[in-house]
Amino acid sequence: MLTRRQSLTTLAAGAGAIALLPFPALAKYEVTLTEAQWRKKLSPPAFAVLRKQDTERPFSSPLDKEKRSGVFACAGCALPLFTSKTKFDSGTGWPSFYAPLRNAVALDTDRLLGFERTEVHCRRCGGHLGHVFDDGPKPTGKRYCMNGVAMTFTPRNFA
Ligand SMILES: [Zn+2]
Repeated sequence: MLTRRQSLTTLAAGAGAIALLPFPALAKYEVTLTEAQWRKKLSPPAFAVLRKQDTERPFSSPLDKEKRSGVFACAGCALPLFTSKTKFDSGTGWPSFYAPLRNAVALDTDRLLGFERTEVHCRRCGGHLGHVFDDGPKPTGKRYCMNGVAMTFTPRNFA
């Protein structure tokens, strides 16, 4: 039989475990649509990437070769995610950046390929964007490997 002290300890441990649940389990995104609504809003390839964590074929997105000054936004909810200032040519065939805009993306861990990768998704709608790796250039050393089809590009000149 548990003493009073032991049962309190058990309760406290239980509360701690709930607080440690991974982010997506508790996430409430500002932009939330049903699967049918997303299907209607997005092109089939964008739906597959943003809502089903698909990966576009490398070198398939025109945004990979986009060299103009401008803003890359989420194709799901239009939140600005990256600018051309942190874009670099990684040679992978996917648009690559060394840093996102502030408060634009959230990270998660996935094991879809049988090993751990850090998944990058839109902070506002939860849409899957790609992954981030530790082999990027200075100053961050990060390589945000994005699916071009998950983003839109708007040319813009920065002062
Ligand atoms: Zn979004």
